[in-house]
Amino acid sequence: MVISVTAIYQYFQVEKEATLEPYIKLYLHEQGAIVGMDLEQYIKGVVTAEMPASFDIEALKAQAVCARTYAVKKLIEEHSYPQGADLSDDINVCQAYAPVLNFAKDDSNERELAKRIDEAVESTRGEIMLFDSKPIDALYCSTCGGKTESAGAVWGKDISYLHAVKCDDCSKSSHYQNSHTINNEVINKLVGDKGDTLNIKILAQTPSGRLKSLSINGHQLDADTLRKGLNLPSSWIDFHPSVHTTVINTRGYGHGVGLCQYGANGMAQRGKNYHQILKKYYLGIDFYKLSY
Ligand SMILES: [Zn+2]
Repeated sequence: MVISVTAIYQYFQVEKEATLEPYIKLYLHEQGAIVGMDLEQYIKGVVTAEMPASFDIEALKAQAVCARTYAVKKLIEEHSYPQGADLSDDINVCQAYAPVLNFAKDDSNERELAKRIDEAVESTRGEIMLFDSKPIDALYCSTCGGKTESAGAVWGKDISYLHAVKCDDCSKSSHYQNSHTINNEVINKLVGDKGDTLNIKILAQTPSGRLKSLSINGHQLDADTLRKGLNLPSSWIDFHPSVHTTVINTRGYGHGVGLCQYGANGMAQRGKNYHQILKKYYLGIDFYKLSY
C-alpha cells in the first residue's frame, strides 16, 4: 500500500523526509493566550487531560496515537483557531490539554504518573492512524457502555472506520450503568407541560440501541435535547415511569463513537497491545510513523 501523507509535511512546510519535529501554536481558550511547543510535548498534555494516567500503559499509548492522529488531521485541514493558532484546548472544537505533570515535584505519585505519560507518548512518537492513506477522525469517548456507536447514527454521515462494535471491556467504569430518579415535573418541563402526568414513547433508536427521538405527552423531542436538559451522561437510555417520578437508566458516558477509553484500559489489562486496541475500535485502519 502506498501511503501518501505529503499533506502532513506540506502543512509544516518541510520536505517529506524532514527530521524536524513540528512546532505548534496552541490557543488556551480560558486565558485567551497562545503557547508554542513541540508536537510531542502537546500530545503529552492531551493524554494528561484526556485519560487518567493510572490507566494501563497500552491504553495510554492508544490514547497518545488517538490524540496525535486527531491533531494531525486538524492541522492538515487547516482549521482556524483564534489568534492564528494551529490547535485549541477548547474541547468543543478540539482536544483538552493540561500542562504536563511535573517530574521534579516532590510527590512520588505525580512523578510516577508523569513517567507513564512520557513513556506512552515517546514509545509511539510520530505514530498516527490512516484510512485510505489519510489520517482518520480519531474520535474517542470515556465509556461506551457495552457497544460503541456508528458515526452515521450520531452525525448522519457514515464513516467506514467508525462503525458500532461490541465492547466487553468497559464494565469497570463507574459510568457503565447508572440510574437516575427524576421528578416527572422536571421531565414535563422539557416540553412545556406542567404536573406529573407523564406519557413517554420511544420514537426512534439508533442501530446500537441508543435513543434518537421520543415523545413526551405527545410532544416530539430529540435525544440530545433530552440528554442535555436532564444532564444525562449518554443517550443510551431506558425509562421506568411511576406516579411522581421516573427512573432513567443510562449506559456509558459520551457520544460512544470511536475508542472507548475504559474499554481500552480493560483490553490492556487482558494483555492486548495498543495496536490491537486501536484496530478493534477503528475498523480497517493502518498505522503510519511520521519520520521526525
Ligand atoms: Zn466500552
